[in-house]
Amino acid sequence: GTKTAIVDKALLDKILDKNRQSFNEGKVADYIPELGKANASSIALSVVNSDGTIVSIGDVQQRFTIQSISKIVSLMIAVLENGEQVVFNNMGYYGTDKPFNHFANLETSGKPLNPMMNAGAILTTSLIKGTGEEPFLKIRNMIRFITNNEKIDYSKSVYNSERETGNRNRGMFYLMRNNGLIDGEGEDKLNNYFKQCSIEITAEDLAKIGFFFANHCVRYDGNKQYNNPSLSQLVQSQMLIAGMYEFSGEYARTVGLPSKSGVGGGIAVSVPNKMGIGAYSPALDQHGNSVAAYRMILDLVREKSLSLFY
Ligand code: GLN
Repeated sequence: GTKTAIVDKALLDKILDKNRQSFNEGKVADYIPELGKANASSIALSVVNSDGTIVSIGDVQQRFTIQSISKIVSLMIAVLENGEQVVFNNMGYYGTDKPFNHFANLETSGKPLNPMMNAGAILTTSLIKGTGEEPFLKIRNMIRFITNNEKIDYSKSVYNSERETGNRNRGMFYLMRNNGLIDGEGEDKLNNYFKQCSIEITAEDLAKIGFFFANHCVRYDGNKQYNNPSLSQLVQSQMLIAGMYEFSGEYARTVGLPSKSGVGGGIAVSVPNKMGIGAYSPALDQHGNSVAAYRMILDLVREKSLSLFY
């Protein structure tokens, strides 16, 4: 692709219209009952261009929960506080053919496969220092910083719904605690994970997050407070190999960009050294990735030749 590729509103309009009905081929997540309340036909697409300009279309005001996309921010903070070595002594850099909530090899080698699956993310968050909800507050504040949006917070109803139905995540947590990977009392650490998943954002916020990791952790407005090329390289590599769960390999072939999805229906995409893309539509495919968001990203990437492998 070309370094100066700039996306305009007309192109996004065309792409959104083409894919508007594809939500019919997916299904809104309801294993966390609160998520089931989303309007399946909601759709939004946002781009932060390489010059920091933002173009957004569709349901741009629609807020939804960040879910697994929070895992890249918790990974960032855990690495900043502990160093990459400590974090990856506790888990692997592996990809996977298993769903995001799989126990994978927690019963054999004892360590999560990577920080993008639930087990690895629960462990990542437990490596963030602080008591009670402090680790969560650090994640929330980092998302506020990256999006330059002090209003960002979590949804109490989604959080409660996650807690009530999160027994699989609870099982992973206690298995890792049994394996000596997590210490500490009670469920504070697990609750921090449930809270981070319940943070509400918009498609534009996701585009800003994508931009941040695409550009050495420099914010879309040029703020360099967290400027760190090796960190963004690490986070993007995890997004590329595991950010779309077991679909990551096929996604690398078709889209070819570091991306992270969440079961709230969002996808954040990093176009290295260029732009950030945020896409939203809550109906998901069988892997837990948004059907319409994926198709919009695919069209945009083809139109602008953005794949890393193009
Ligand atoms: N909160 C969700 C869960 O733990 C996050 C999963 C996801 O977005 N893939 O199941």
